Amino acid sequence: MLKAAFPGSFDPPTLGHINIVRRAASIFDELVLVVAENRQKKYLFSAAERVSMLRELVKDRENVLVETCDTLIVDFLRRRNIRILLRGVRGIDDFAYEFELSMMNKALDHRIETIFMTTDPEYFVLRSSSIKELASFHGDTTGMVPPLVAEALKVKYP
Ligand code: ADP
Repeated sequence: MLKAAFPGSFDPPTLGHINIVRRAASIFDELVLVVAENRQKKYLFSAAERVSMLRELVKDRENVLVETCDTLIVDFLRRRNIRILLRGVRGIDDFAYEFELSMMNKALDHRIETIFMTTDPEYFVLRSSSIKELASFHGDTTGMVPPLVAEALKVKYP
């Protein structure tokens, strides 16, 4: 059984994340979306809110699970017996960062294999941080996030 974990903040989930999830779910037997709960980071949406949005968004995919993680991702992977860490890349800047991260994770556990999936072109400008900024000015996020996320952003920025 080929399992992979796709970790991220998902604060909030965007159509870019969902694109990676759908494509990866058709490759791996099981895909675990790992919602980061890092106490040092400030999130707009709580971990429970991010998990609940993601669960709703992937409910049609039986092989996609959504979980939280407040430890190092390598420890999560070890606990779950998963060797593949999936990350999405939008461009060269993402890649530079992701490459370093993968080296660090490899140093922590050499069994972990990071696999990069490039974004589909229509999603490459989508970034949770810019979408939050746009939403904070009441800009229209349609076409960037799923409708339920657009609604949740409106609640955060009334
Ligand atoms: P993190 O805080 O860990 O970077 P993000 O939620 O920003 O978490 O991203 C999680 C993963 O999804 C990362 O691998 C990121 O590169 C990828 N990702 C984010 N947006 C996109 C997108 N539009 N297209 C492809 N991958 C994306």
